[in-house]
Amino acid sequence: MLIQQQKKLEFNKFESLEEKFEYAKSMHLVAKFEEGLSYFRILKTEYEAIKRYDRVIDCLGWICQNLANLGRVEELYNYLPEYKSICKEHGTELNQLKLSTYLAFISTSIGDEKSAIEYYQEAIAIAKKLNDTKRYVISLINLQGVYLLIKDFEQANAIALEVKKQFVHEPSIKTTMSEAAYYLNLMTIQLEWQQLQTIEPLFHAFEAIANIEKYNREQMYYQCVKGRYYIQLQRYSDAITELENAYAFIVQTKEEPFLTIILENLVQAHEISGNYQEALYYAKKFNEKLLDQHKKHVTNETIKVIKEIDLDNMKQLVYIDGLTSIPNRRYLEKFGAKLIDEAAHNVHCAIIDIDHFKKINDRFGHIVGDLAIQQLAQIIQGVLPENFLFARYAGDEFVFLAKQLGKDAETILQQLFASITDFEFQTDDIYVKLTISMGVASLADCEVKELKTLLDLADQALYQSKNTGRNLISFYVNA
Ligand code: GH3
Ligand code: MG
Repeated sequence: MLIQQQKKLEFNKFESLEEKFEYAKSMHLVAKFEEGLSYFRILKTEYEAIKRYDRVIDCLGWICQNLANLGRVEELYNYLPEYKSICKEHGTELNQLKLSTYLAFISTSIGDEKSAIEYYQEAIAIAKKLNDTKRYVISLINLQGVYLLIKDFEQANAIALEVKKQFVHEPSIKTTMSEAAYYLNLMTIQLEWQQLQTIEPLFHAFEAIANIEKYNREQMYYQCVKGRYYIQLQRYSDAITELENAYAFIVQTKEEPFLTIILENLVQAHEISGNYQEALYYAKKFNEKLLDQHKKHVTNETIKVIKEIDLDNMKQLVYIDGLTSIPNRRYLEKFGAKLIDEAAHNVHCAIIDIDHFKKINDRFGHIVGDLAIQQLAQIIQGVLPENFLFARYAGDEFVFLAKQLGKDAETILQQLFASITDFEFQTDDIYVKLTISMGVASLADCEVKELKTLLDLADQALYQSKNTGRNLISFYVNA
């Protein structure tokens, strides 16, 4: 059984500067960039005091690296003049190589890929000159990453082949980190190039790398690639699982450009899955990120999501009556037409109108009138079967459409009328009995099978009810 050592390490507890330096470096592996940054700032001052300029340069390098990982590009810029001048005075060619690498890194962070390529080429040239195969390969992998960003797959692929050649020639440079970076870049190239069939074997190769689980950052990037791959395969829930895991890791480190890629893909996967709330949540994060970077552009996906969500809200407002919260006339016209198309002949339409409603308004005022309309809407909704289409048509008028009532249609409708009319309307200090009149027509009687015609006939029947005493139901009969 493996027993984990529980010895807690602390920066201040180390006695020598070199031990502290190594500890500060290890922060990078566990993606604790903020912590690493603060340690290297302390170390830089301590090394300056003893004039260890090689280490001062290293500290500056690591400060830059951590700032780059945290996306704090502006602060990084401020360190560059100092870094450059100290390199010039005390630096070795290796320092120069590192400087080029950081400059390339910064250029990538701010979207200046052209400069990034030049700086990485500089680093590659120095590494070659120094016969430093490890740094040569790392710089190649970094350059490959930039070509990927600008979608120059030819170049990216050519570099991948060169890296592979180096791995074969000199297996010692195949460290966990370099191998992981190599496979991750290769997966991304295949993904962008739509060579989906070659990706699964790369996943297996990546998972087989020794000790890979220790390297959180690579693991996060792996989840990110997998998520994007599942999106391509339309396996959206798998994609969401991978991307949300990657996101959970990256929010702690805010590492660019992965955060942007993850957010963008999460928006897409949630949007396609119809999870608009989640899509909007990530879209907002994504927009904040872009605004943060002063890149004030929004992707089409985001615009689409926001539009769709607005549309949902608008649909609600467009089809719901403000006073009664039941469907309105527009809703009736849109969905009533559909119901008529589907049910062919067998549709009944009823119009309900409150009797002498003007008197309520006159006696008690409009606010009380409103309450009466609201109560009646509730009463009708309470007695109508669910499959009836019910709407407020105008002022004190309501309409419902019923399909397939069969031969008992009249009886059913008469019973419904009886359970609505004579409704008791009351507020704290008012108690009134109200009646309604109802007019019914059947689509079978319409020459033109349209909602408009049907409503017209039902209205004629309603007129009949009003004219013959009110508190009545009348049926339109084709004479
Ligand atoms: P009848 O029995 O012939 O239907 O008589 P009525 O008084 O009900 O007359 P009618 O249906 O023609 O008039 C309805 C009145 O409802 C007209 C208008 O002042 C009032 N009204 C329309 N919309 C609203 C509303 O939203 N709130 C209130 N309080 N009154 C409304
Ligand atoms: Mg009325």
